[in-house]
Amino acid sequence: MTSASQLSLFDSSSPVDSFAVRVSPRARRLTVRVHIGGRVEVVVPQGVTPNTVRAFVTRNTSWIDRKVAQMGCHATPVAAIPAAIALASTGEHLQVQWRHSERRSLRCGPSEICIEARDLHGAIGLMREWLLIAARERLSPRLAELAQELGMSLKGVTIRRQRTRWGSCSSRGKISLNCSLLFMPPEVVRYLMVHELSHLQHMNHSEAFWRAVERHEPNFRHLDRQLTAGWRSVPDWVFKS
Ligand SMILES: [Zn+2]
Repeated sequence: MTSASQLSLFDSSSPVDSFAVRVSPRARRLTVRVHIGGRVEVVVPQGVTPNTVRAFVTRNTSWIDRKVAQMGCHATPVAAIPAAIALASTGEHLQVQWRHSERRSLRCGPSEICIEARDLHGAIGLMREWLLIAARERLSPRLAELAQELGMSLKGVTIRRQRTRWGSCSSRGKISLNCSLLFMPPEVVRYLMVHELSHLQHMNHSEAFWRAVERHEPNFRHLDRQLTAGWRSVPDWVFKS
């Protein structure tokens, strides 16, 4: 599964797999624009439901595809603001609304994220800041709980946005977690935590280390492979600038 289709409002019903929704108080009807590089933006009046947007995009799919093919060759694509964010680790599904504004703000409710930003770059920056905070709120307590459950003493947790590592453990007993873990299923997140916590006792990947991991997570081989393949599930906006 690609990150785009995972985030899309309409995974299987439409070939258009990534577009931004912008709410405009001045808009009277739904319109769609395809920017240079192939980025698709749907401009909607206030109060329009996701279902209406979905139906609109589906109706215009062939036009959008033609335009994307025309525009896509002019420049490298920029990550788009997704229509929704799915956090596999917690089962949360958040609709994303982006409003053009000179203000810079992001509000997150139980089922939606509302962004105010001047441009795409600003909106993506806000989403990345939010992701770090969201990861701290959701992952840090879970790690502390697991450490306690396994009888290990944890000295601290940091959350980072890294392209290459899911987590690490310092010789001083501090564990670092990648905020992109939010896009992984809970059992994979738990495995990564068991892995890093086991490094508190074994600062290497020796046999003794893997035995410790296996004691706490017998299915570790399968989960480790899932984690390695997991980068594919991280949406474009997390890293692509
Ligand atoms: Zn390791």
